[in-house]
Amino acid sequence: MVDAHAESASARTLVLDVPGWGGHRAGQHVDLRLTADDGYTAVRAYSIGAPWDPDAPTRVEVTVQRVQGGEVSPYLVDEFAVGQRIEVRGPVGGWFVWAPGAAGGAPVLLLAGGSGVVPLVSMVRERRRRADRTPFRLVYSVRMPGDALFLDELTGPRRRDDGVDTHVVWTRGVPPDDPSGRPPGRLDLRGLARHGWPADLRPLVFVCGPTGFVEAVSRMLLVLGHDASAIRAERFGPST
Ligand SMILES: Cc1cc2nc3c(=O)[nH]c(=O)nc-3n(C[C@H](O)[C@H](O)[C@H](O)COP(=O)(O)OP(=O)(O)OC[C@H]3O[C@@H](n4cnc5c(N)ncnc54)[C@H](O)[C@@H]3O)c2cc1C
Repeated sequence: MVDAHAESASARTLVLDVPGWGGHRAGQHVDLRLTADDGYTAVRAYSIGAPWDPDAPTRVEVTVQRVQGGEVSPYLVDEFAVGQRIEVRGPVGGWFVWAPGAAGGAPVLLLAGGSGVVPLVSMVRERRRRADRTPFRLVYSVRMPGDALFLDELTGPRRRDDGVDTHVVWTRGVPPDDPSGRPPGRLDLRGLARHGWPADLRPLVFVCGPTGFVEAVSRMLLVLGHDASAIRAERFGPST
């Protein structure tokens, strides 16, 4: 690991330098393997948060959210230090990926729950890096202000993404300056209909987050008339 920084009180971005890395696509992930002194190993998947940069071709960034009681994530967030080594396998995944021109340039709907925003922000960054103008909408469901990742980049005054509309759904606590006036609560059918693309635009949809979020949102998308073949889903783990 060559660098690291906190994204929130419970999440940290790790910047890895991976010799021989051959590049990756927005949405792909890596498998990270830790090996203890006694030979015990643990492997976990982490999405790559930043698109491949030809000027730094061996750099891979992941953002890890601490899962209470977890075996690997608390170690990566709290203890793993710059200069230490970790085994990286990847890039992994060929379906949950986006690049300019995907699906004939269809508008893109990104639906994130919690740390599920990581691969989706990589798609937003890839669009920016390539100066692409595909219309993007991101609906980001997150518990409370202190938990949100990349919020400044996605919604702050320095945002540089024309054509990317971001809507945040606060599920447990709303920031005091939130303009929507909406009380905290889960993303529902009405919110999805309002902040997502209508199905008749035939958007390409990426859903990512805890299993319960992905399943609930996928069901709502079908109710709203989206084509199942246009929905790409990635489950990060149990519902919280
Ligand atoms: C393709 C893919 C990409 C992923 N990308 C990311 C990423 O970018 N950032 C990130 O932080 N995580 C990501 N994950 C989740 C990650 O792989 C681990 O599952 C997570 O870090 C928990 O590992 P752990 O060893 O700390 O917990 P474990 O020791 O594996 O689990 C401890 C307890 O927490 C529960 N649990 C496990 N995972 C979760 C979860 N995600 N949410 C809530 N409870 C959970 C388990 O059921 C268990 O009870 C991704 C998963 C997949 C499959």
